[in-house]
Amino acid sequence: MEKRASSVRDRVTSFSRSSLRGFFQRNLFVLFTVAAVALGAILGFSLRPHDLSLKEIKYFAFPGELLMRMLQMLVLPLIVSSLVTGISSLDSKASGKMGARAVAYYMVTTLVAVFIGIVIVVIIRPGKGSRDSPVTKSGHIEPVQAADAFLDLIRNMFPPNLVEACFKQYKTVYKKTVYTRNVTVTLNFTDSLNVTEYDLRANFSRVLHTMQTVEETVPVAGSSGGVNALGLVVFSMCFGLVIGNMKQQGQALRNFFDCLNEAIMRLVAIIIWYAPVGIMFLIAGKIVEMKDLAEVGGQLGMYTVSVIVGLFIHGLFVLPLLFFLVTRKNPYSFIGGLLQALITALGTSSSSATLPITFRCLEENNHVDKRVTRFVLPVGATINMDGTALYEAVAAIFIAQVNDMDLNFGQILTISITATAASIGAAGIPQAGLVTMVIVLTSVGLPTEDITLIIAVDWFLDRLRTTTNVLGDSLGAGIVEHLSREELQNQDAEMHDSVLEASEKPYQLICQENDTINHINSETTM
Ligand code: ASP
Repeated sequence: MEKRASSVRDRVTSFSRSSLRGFFQRNLFVLFTVAAVALGAILGFSLRPHDLSLKEIKYFAFPGELLMRMLQMLVLPLIVSSLVTGISSLDSKASGKMGARAVAYYMVTTLVAVFIGIVIVVIIRPGKGSRDSPVTKSGHIEPVQAADAFLDLIRNMFPPNLVEACFKQYKTVYKKTVYTRNVTVTLNFTDSLNVTEYDLRANFSRVLHTMQTVEETVPVAGSSGGVNALGLVVFSMCFGLVIGNMKQQGQALRNFFDCLNEAIMRLVAIIIWYAPVGIMFLIAGKIVEMKDLAEVGGQLGMYTVSVIVGLFIHGLFVLPLLFFLVTRKNPYSFIGGLLQALITALGTSSSSATLPITFRCLEENNHVDKRVTRFVLPVGATINMDGTALYEAVAAIFIAQVNDMDLNFGQILTISITATAASIGAAGIPQAGLVTMVIVLTSVGLPTEDITLIIAVDWFLDRLRTTTNVLGDSLGAGIVEHLSREELQNQDAEMHDSVLEASEKPYQLICQENDTINHINSETTM
């Protein structure tokens, strides 16, 4: 009896030990990454009292900088290869449908995010009361007219030079031009004279030709550093579509990009081991560097709270609800599989740099079809930024409140549209949203120099909105996969048929040959 009880006990302990080991093995990376965040925070806060100089902080954050560089190194080939293979592996009808679904998802979720932001900032009113601090002129941001910003967005979709697009974007700059022009001035002498109109025209009108000096601000071509992801996305999509339609002729290129994609993902699998170390130092470095958060009180504190509340509502309730309504699956277990990507987004503040990890989480942990991730993720990381859109709307209305400016419905609508456009235009790099804020502010006549009011907390909000951006892209991949399962299954069936056909062909040939031989034999024996 005792023996049996002890054997049962042994079995239970060995089972729980093995299941615990299995759990640790499966979630090793996530556990490392979570531990890295905690260690980074501890390290950062314990170093703060030592008052490190800026130079020391820079050296200290070096391992984090290395992680950023490694991830950024992979982004360019990853975007191009995944989009080309993703789109060329689908037939044009399937990719069209999938594209339409993805774009519909991006538009709906971004507009919902903007709406949530507006409601929150109108309810909390963080900018009410008198201004906390005068505007300081630190951190100047070059203003761009809203119309030119829109045109730049379209220009960047079509890069004239693909090599240049790998490191440069088009950006309008303004140049003061002074020139002279001919003006015609008509002098009338009618007032004081009592004469007929005919006499006037004949005798008293005088036309003078003079030169006038005019000063005009002209938008001219300029550039800003960084990958023109939008241009590369558009090119890769078109390229993928074309080689997909080339059938057998395009096979060599398809194989090349497929192989490139596979190789990059293998590099990701190596770099991922370094990610926890990098994240730890990124977080610790930022904590050492940050100003005392206790000083961020008053209006800025309430503004920070408004953005955080908005991002939480959108990321933890609205997006999961949408995922559940469409797929009928548990959104939180799906989000559990993304944990490493979300933490990387928090550490790097860049959805582009996080892209390699997002790919891995979705494909390995959540088993999302590669044809979907390759298509939806690179586009999402470039144009779908719910967190950024929400933040831009909150920030613009906050600045209006600080300036005691009452916005009417039309202006709020303008802010919604421009915040959506600004989030599309923002690159997936740290604090890109702060730069595109200028478009939103100029569209409703708010002072652009007031952006400096929110710079102090932007590094922190940037991390949260980047995490929301990555979450939105990933849940979007899950939703698009669910909606496209019919096309994907059809394609699987077609592939299966063609493989069968190909494998049956040699057999048929052998049979035919045998028939012929039999036929000849029977003829000769006759
Ligand atoms: N850092 C954000 C991202 O990479 C963009 C932003 O500044 O809002 O998604």
